Amino acid sequence: MYTCGPTVYNYAHIGNFRAFLFEDLLKRWLKHRGFKVLHVMNLTDVDDKTIKGSQKQGSSLKRFTEYYANAFFEDAATLNIEPANHYPRATEHIAEMAALIEELMDKGYAYRGEDGSIYYAINKFKAYGRLSKIRVAQLKTGARVKVDEYAKEEAQDFALWKAWTPEDGNVFWETKLGKGRPGWHIECSAMSMKYLGKTFDIHCGGVDNIFPHHENEIAQSEAATGKTFANYWLHNEHLLVEGKRMAKRYGNYYTLRDLIDKNCDPRAIRFLLLSTHYRQQFNFTFEALEAAKSGIERIENLLHRLHDVSDIDSHEKAEELIERARNQFGNAMDDDLNTNVALASVFDFVREVNNLIDANTLSIEEARKVQAFFAEFDAVFGILGEAKKETLTQEAQELVAKREEARKAKDWKTADELRQQLKAMGFVIEDTAQGVRWRRDKN
Ligand code: AMP
Ligand code: ZN
Repeated sequence: MYTCGPTVYNYAHIGNFRAFLFEDLLKRWLKHRGFKVLHVMNLTDVDDKTIKGSQKQGSSLKRFTEYYANAFFEDAATLNIEPANHYPRATEHIAEMAALIEELMDKGYAYRGEDGSIYYAINKFKAYGRLSKIRVAQLKTGARVKVDEYAKEEAQDFALWKAWTPEDGNVFWETKLGKGRPGWHIECSAMSMKYLGKTFDIHCGGVDNIFPHHENEIAQSEAATGKTFANYWLHNEHLLVEGKRMAKRYGNYYTLRDLIDKNCDPRAIRFLLLSTHYRQQFNFTFEALEAAKSGIERIENLLHRLHDVSDIDSHEKAEELIERARNQFGNAMDDDLNTNVALASVFDFVREVNNLIDANTLSIEEARKVQAFFAEFDAVFGILGEAKKETLTQEAQELVAKREEARKAKDWKTADELRQQLKAMGFVIEDTAQGVRWRRDKN
């Protein structure tokens, strides 16, 4: 599986992380279903944007991109994203790119323009436009575009190798192709095929990558090898802000760090970004983030309650519920990662198990099976902390005991004061048919 990685010229925003989280979910689900996954994610550390950024800062390209690459790894870890097997950097694969471009020239798919740059002739590749469903007007072919990003309507011959110009400063490589640097699209063709072979299974990215980036990757790779490049393409829809794509260029973005500075819980961010189906757009709001947080807490509260179910005989109702939840969850995830439906079944299950505990009809054995289900769930969703058995502090224990005495003496006022005192310490006390229960107050 190859996933287009970050362009390391800035901190990734949470729209970018929607893409990386969807890919993480896909990988974890494939592994859950028994597939072995070899995952490659590139780092784009030389392109139009990184060169501009490093010049603006007066740093070398290497120093500039290394800083943001490290920030990306840190952020990915904060969001509990499982690392890829390889993170190839574009600047470390210039030789592979140059070789691929030479092959395209030999086969007649690429030519040198009068500016010295090398371009891909899109009319030579018959399947051009298949992925993005564009039809290339005859007039447009032969016209050339040197920048990395352009719109569908501007489909033209695109740059594979950009001849050095003074704006590039000291960013260039001397290769057989001349002094210059690679275009963005050839980077991914060269690096994916180096680590995964001429044909591999899955290629992902955001929908904005369909054109021109992925269309061009296919054109480059398939023209060179004569083989299918990727068997499956999965593209995530955008995260929006007030109806508009979250993007650096619109200035309407939050980086992960912005949100952490506002005390947002990274697990809630992860959960929010995973809970809408990946092919649906949705708006980022702080209310939605709060809702994601309480969703996690609902599950965690149940997990805590599972620690103190009483030792009763099995009622068999639980087995049936677990089986049903596992099937519904699994079927929904198998159906193109339908997280909306999968999560709805998980929350139904949470409610039903809570009901069993309320009615004192869940055995210890069954509680263990419920825990096992959530361990499986979390291997995929990655949002729960370790559900340790939490203990009351010595001081809290004493207050709980005092409150019990007060209740026995029907001194409701004192009992209530003690309850408030415990709440201030972060412990919520509940009186249930099975006696006093407590849980941590997450707010
Ligand atoms: P970039 O660093 O710009 O190359 O983007 C990294 C990944 O984030 C790519 O797969 C993009 O398609 C994806 N992406 C960019 N903006 C958004 C967004 N607002 N929502 C979801 N994915 C996005
Ligand atoms: Zn790419």
